[in-house]
Amino acid sequence: MTVRSILDEKGRNVITLGVSTSVTDALKLLEEKAIGVILITNSEGRLEGILSERDIVRSLARGGTGILSDSVASHMTRNVVTCSQSDAVIGVMEVMSKGRFRHLPVTDNSKLVGLISIGDVVKRRLQVVEKEAEDIRSYISAI
Ligand code: AMP
Repeated sequence: MTVRSILDEKGRNVITLGVSTSVTDALKLLEEKAIGVILITNSEGRLEGILSERDIVRSLARGGTGILSDSVASHMTRNVVTCSQSDAVIGVMEVMSKGRFRHLPVTDNSKLVGLISIGDVVKRRLQVVEKEAEDIRSYISAI
């Protein structure tokens, strides 16, 4: 089971903002789309960073409300860990758990092709485990 199967189900739309967008506008987008992170891209659409609601909370705690007018570039995480569509779901779970983050952008030849969250991964794992349990039940009842 691969990341591709998750994207096939949830879609490949990714919400992005430019590096010079203000933190206030990023917050509005997080609320409007009911999401937890926004991917930050440069003018060529290349991934420059990731801004999570956690980054904003931390920056607010450290810098106060003045940071709301800063650009997202000052508060995002720059070293973004990504995965590819052919990666196994079990492997990306481990990456998220070790890295202590809940989101992984999916790239293909450095091009953004999707984003998966820990919620998507857990949902897919549950579907697989339920299917396996169902198959075992059918097998046992047939013997
Ligand atoms: P999250 O749990 O995904 O809301 O993010 C927690 C922290 O990890 C924040 O500082 C994010 O900017 C950062 N983060 C989230 N996803 C990634 C990722 N794929 N690669 C690197 N850092 C990330």
